Amino acid sequence: VFNFAAGPATLPENVLLKAQSELYNWRGSGMSVMEMSHRGKEFLSIIQKAESDLRTLLDISSEYSVLFLQGGATTQFAAVPLNICKSDDAVDYIVTGSWSDKAFKEGQKYCKPNVIWSGKSEKYTKIPSFDDLKQNPEARFLHICANETIHGVEFKNYPTPNNKNGILIADMSSNFCSKPVDVSKFGLIYAGAQKNVGPSGVTIVIVRNDLIGNAQDLTPVMLDYKIHADNNSLYNTPPCYGIYMCGLVFEDLLEQGGLVEVEKKNKKKAEILYNAIDESNGFFKCPVEKSVRSLMNVPFTLEKSELEGEFIKEAAKESMVQLKGHRSVGGMRASIYNAMPLAGVEKLVAFMKDFQAKHA
Ligand code: PLP
Repeated sequence: VFNFAAGPATLPENVLLKAQSELYNWRGSGMSVMEMSHRGKEFLSIIQKAESDLRTLLDISSEYSVLFLQGGATTQFAAVPLNICKSDDAVDYIVTGSWSDKAFKEGQKYCKPNVIWSGKSEKYTKIPSFDDLKQNPEARFLHICANETIHGVEFKNYPTPNNKNGILIADMSSNFCSKPVDVSKFGLIYAGAQKNVGPSGVTIVIVRNDLIGNAQDLTPVMLDYKIHADNNSLYNTPPCYGIYMCGLVFEDLLEQGGLVEVEKKNKKKAEILYNAIDESNGFFKCPVEKSVRSLMNVPFTLEKSELEGEFIKEAAKESMVQLKGHRSVGGMRASIYNAMPLAGVEKLVAFMKDFQAKHA
């Protein structure tokens, strides 16, 4: 099938086949990766290679630590303020959709966050103009969600934090490794793996070294970046198999020519799909402002909304699955992450045209 799920999401077929081929016996070790000690030389080579390949992909300098953690991006909604600010620090959040809203709400427990811009009244279809942002110069950091998975809005460039610490923090869960990113612009980037780079269970944190080591006193050890950085993500048992899978995906992305090439493919897929929506004379609609439409998550509705159930059912019959929109917004959503082949998007577009011809 072509799987348009928002996450956990489709993974590259060659990566899954490679994992299958070494499932019982990883490279002559006689063990599955699931059976290895996380402190043994075999697993150490896996996690070190995964980190080094990720550093190559995103050109991450030695000024940053790369952590492979657990708990999903949701845990980072708490870990970020716990590590980066004190409980009475002011912090700025830009709220462009459900995920940045959740991050803000969790932040309220651990610092004094303020929403400096919200897209809620416009149903989260926009990204603010950076000139209009009223950042608090005293804020400890500025937090954004780089790509809102549910609403399909994506930052195409990033605001410059003008807080006195100059710290920009981004949740990149749903566009991580989908395009090159200048990591040096960020104090911290975090992402759940389960959209573009692996199975659920692994959360990646890229954090500037000078921001590590100041966690609030009540921070649980499992959320303290210093503990994980000092122990190379091996303080406790990490999600070994998930990290191994991420490593295979990083190898695959490098083999494709790196993120410049990956972005070209993603742009092409998104263009075909958005064009099909825009050229349907209103039969299909995407509510998101054109300039900030996500390359990863494409939400769309039908003018005749009573046909949406049929659209999803008929698409599934033709092997295109998981097209239902998020329960909070309805309609449809096609997630077209790195691993979605162009053929999947072409098939979806052909199906949309047929569906329209039948029902217009
Ligand atoms: N942030 C974004 C942008 C997401 O898309 C998601 C999940 O879909 C999350 C955070 C929450 O991630 P997790 O389920 O890994 O905690």
